[in-house]
Amino acid sequence: MAWVNYHSHSLYCDGKAFPEDYVNQAVEKGFPAWGYSSHAPVPFASMWNMPSEKLPEYLEELTRIKSDYSGKIQVYKGLEIDYIEGLWGSRQSGLINLPIDFTIGSVHYIGQLPDGSHFCFDGQPEGFFKGIELLYQNDFRKAITTYYQAEMRMAEVDNPDIIGHMDKIKMHNAFRPYLNEEEKWYVSLVEETLEVIRQKGNMVEVNTRGLYKHMPPLLYPGKWVLERIHRKKIPILLNSDSHHPDEIDSGFAYAAELLLGIGFQSLRVLIDGKWQDKAFDKNGLLF
Ligand SMILES: [Zn+2]
Ligand SMILES: [Zn+2]
Repeated sequence: MAWVNYHSHSLYCDGKAFPEDYVNQAVEKGFPAWGYSSHAPVPFASMWNMPSEKLPEYLEELTRIKSDYSGKIQVYKGLEIDYIEGLWGSRQSGLINLPIDFTIGSVHYIGQLPDGSHFCFDGQPEGFFKGIELLYQNDFRKAITTYYQAEMRMAEVDNPDIIGHMDKIKMHNAFRPYLNEEEKWYVSLVEETLEVIRQKGNMVEVNTRGLYKHMPPLLYPGKWVLERIHRKKIPILLNSDSHHPDEIDSGFAYAAELLLGIGFQSLRVLIDGKWQDKAFDKNGLLF
């Protein structure tokens, strides 16, 4: 019994190990396939995106690993590409034309701060609340709406294979509550976003990073969103967003049980160069 995972970060961006360390761990655990998805470059200085001058080396290194490990595990080359409204996306940047096997589209930046820097909400809570104050005058509804509007535009314009951590804007809620997910406006916003995703045919990843990094644990997207995804028959896959080789399937057993409880019967996997649906139980994919 084994898993697959296509969302991982190495030393080329903000991950903690060499790309090869991850594939070795995946082979060890009997994974049939493994995917790399470093944070693609953005057009400004960033702590965690890959600098653009490293991109050719990243692609070459993955090509080498792909060939060195053929016969042992299928290796896929991907990128997690930022969508930044009005500024950046896989199409606007041309990153979509690179020789890669898949793209994860994610929104991490939702505006520009008074000092000109780009506001990444996906950092420490202090920075998040400061940014919302400076940029949105503490109007959380406005900030959250901006986030989902960017998600919708990303699905429409960039049409990535995978929508990354779809409701991550909720991540700091336990630190200081700013979002009640039961409020009507929020439910409608999520519904509207899912409808765009359904029409565009993107896959939504079930991202387990919040299960092993946050207290209390968080799954992206959460259970009620997953129930709606199930009703809409939007394809899902399980990704751990690993930044360390020890995290390649962290949280998968928990998430798989929850998905089975909702009624999901299969997960989408990239095997033999083709996205396909595979049955699963809490211990792994069923081949
Ligand atoms: Zn991300
Ligand atoms: Zn990521």
